[in-house]
Amino acid sequence: MQTSNLFNTLLDQITEIVVILDKKNNVKEFNLAAENYFKVSKKNIIDRNFVAFCHEKNLPYPILLNDHTKLLKEKISSKKNKADVSNIFSPIIWKMSHPKIENDAYLIILTGKIATEEDKELIINFQNILDNMPGNYWIKDITGRYIACNHSIAKVAGLNSINEIIGRTDYELPWSKYADDLVKNDKQVMVLGTPQIREEVISAKKGKAIILLSIKAPFRDENGNIIGTIGNSFDLSEYKKQTTFTEKRLESIIESIAGNHWWKDVNGVYLGCNDSLAKTLGLNSHLDVIGKTDYQLPWAETADALVQNDQEVMRTGISQRREEQVASKTGETFTFMVVKIPLRDENGNIIGTVGNSIDITEQKKIEKALVAEKERAEQANQAKTRFLATISHELRTPLNGIIGAAEILQNEHVISKCKNFAQDIETSAINLLAIVNEILNFSKLESGKIELKLIPFNLKRIVEEVITNIRHQLQGKDLKLIFKYDPSIPAHLLGDPTRIAQILINLIGNAVKFTEEGYIKVAVKMLKHYKHSCSLYFTVEDTGIGIPENKFGIIFDRFTQVESETYKRRYGGVGLGLAICKQLVTALKGKIGVKSTLGHGSLFWFKLNFQLKNGLKSAKLKKEQVDKKLLFNNRILVVEDEPINQRIITEMLKQLDCQVDVASTGAEALKLVHKNSYDLIFMDIRLTDTNGMLVTREIRKDKNLTPIVALTAHAFEEEIQNFYNAGMNDVLTKPFTQNVLHAILTKWLKSKQRS
Ligand code: ADP
Repeated sequence: MQTSNLFNTLLDQITEIVVILDKKNNVKEFNLAAENYFKVSKKNIIDRNFVAFCHEKNLPYPILLNDHTKLLKEKISSKKNKADVSNIFSPIIWKMSHPKIENDAYLIILTGKIATEEDKELIINFQNILDNMPGNYWIKDITGRYIACNHSIAKVAGLNSINEIIGRTDYELPWSKYADDLVKNDKQVMVLGTPQIREEVISAKKGKAIILLSIKAPFRDENGNIIGTIGNSFDLSEYKKQTTFTEKRLESIIESIAGNHWWKDVNGVYLGCNDSLAKTLGLNSHLDVIGKTDYQLPWAETADALVQNDQEVMRTGISQRREEQVASKTGETFTFMVVKIPLRDENGNIIGTVGNSIDITEQKKIEKALVAEKERAEQANQAKTRFLATISHELRTPLNGIIGAAEILQNEHVISKCKNFAQDIETSAINLLAIVNEILNFSKLESGKIELKLIPFNLKRIVEEVITNIRHQLQGKDLKLIFKYDPSIPAHLLGDPTRIAQILINLIGNAVKFTEEGYIKVAVKMLKHYKHSCSLYFTVEDTGIGIPENKFGIIFDRFTQVESETYKRRYGGVGLGLAICKQLVTALKGKIGVKSTLGHGSLFWFKLNFQLKNGLKSAKLKKEQVDKKLLFNNRILVVEDEPINQRIITEMLKQLDCQVDVASTGAEALKLVHKNSYDLIFMDIRLTDTNGMLVTREIRKDKNLTPIVALTAHAFEEEIQNFYNAGMNDVLTKPFTQNVLHAILTKWLKSKQRS
């Protein structure tokens, strides 16, 4: 007899059920008792998977524990409920061994014997105990297969009997989608060998999720070896409903408190927060935040700093108050004032952080703007101080010339050189006047008091006049002054020639001042010619010292000079010229700018639009010149209390062939006006006994229409308006040159002759 036959015969002799499986649970041997018990012939089961077979036949899987496990049993069939247990109960007591054979392979040998009465009682008692315990109980083997459980768990899962659970793994049960998590936790319990309590979720047959509080422990054999897990759980859903209610109330309280509130665990995971936090940062609700760390939220980029600070709060246990930058979902960065405190459990252990914050982004912006504004104001103030220092220097220079020359003139021995000194006085005074005019101009422009004219003029002539007047400044310099004028520019334009001349005087004046050799090129080019207007491009180019690029933006600011910061003032000026140009060009709705290379030269440009005056005869322009030649034999009254000024104006008028009477007071003036007939009256404003406006009103009371020209050092617009209101016809501002005086006489005496 072959060994295998002998072996099979022996197996068939054994009254106990013997099933031998390989490690994949495939049947290798099946004795007669097994055939009878499982109602399947040996040839039909050999090499089939035994577990699959049990499931197919709806037989409970035999309890796969080691040899020593006696207690755990299974009922053959238990489709019925607990009350029928004793009737249908036909338990087998299974034993399992897994001897190793060659090449590390091993077999699983299951032996089962029909339970004795005593065994049955034990088993029934055990199942009864399990079924009577409140909550769910189960035991799983080392592979995660349920080897025992109570009815409660079947009920919770919506199953009919425990047989639908026994022998299956979590992957084959209604809660299969949670199986990964459950199995992972089972393994943890077995590896660590310690019990674990946690919330876990399973789902019932109909898919309803059930939250359980589960306690799991390692299941050990008599020798203390871990052979599976034993667990119990109870349904938390009801309890959860209550806590949800409490949480809801807490949530609504937190929502009602202004600001953002949150709490995180030790790993930085948000456990809770209010909607305000989520919404401020562009999310919909607290649900978008909870369960995530800062690194998983839109502000991940700023998470490092937040996490570091959380950790510091937890390490030190000290609360912190600080500003934090957080990026929102839209990419905008917010600034928050944040207070963080450690979150502690009832024993005082730190288990996370609690924080609240308020959005101070707007406040920060205002603060920043205020600081910038303060800096700007300080800079402006410094510029003003520098301006005062410069202006006092600039005023002292010509004053020195005037005082010096005047003193020298008083010395009889130098009488022959009189003319030269007189010239020096004039030059100094003209310089002084230019400075005073510049300041005056600027203050007018800055207060928006400038009035622009719209009159016909010949642009080419205006530019040429400016150039001619400036030419004398080139003396002593190796400088060529080039003028290029686009011939396509219409002869007569409408605009304010005085303002355009003023801009050019400043720009060309600067070019001369800052250039020692090379050339200065003034050019006017037609940019666009429309039907009723044209756009012109003016440039003033020089080969001078140039301007550093970082100053391009500021030189058009008032009181700014490139050199003033280095305290090396080589060039005159008070830093108002370009500011005036900018104000004027802006008032004329144009644009101004500069290009420059330090050490090589600068190019200042401005663009202006002009209306066209078609068909204007040049006659009108010529006429003004003819009038200049008129000579006067008119009677003039000068009302002036200051002797030097009396002498100067009298002398100037006499040189212009006028007959002059002088009144030093208002009373004297009225007397003379009653007595004589004058062609024109020059009226000082500040008189010792009254003021010029009151005297004028008196004169006008008698219907006397003699032109009255205010003679004044008051040059502000609103004051001048008062003079007109008092009945004066014109204003002559002190100091004045003989040319200006001549122009005034021409204007008023001519009108008188016509009327
Ligand atoms: P200033 O009366 O001091 O000339 P401006 O406002 O006219 O005042 O000019 C401001 C500053 O710009 C000058 O002090 C000078 O530093 C610089 N600047 C102006 N024009 C020129 C130029 N053509 N070449 C070099 N620097 C210039």
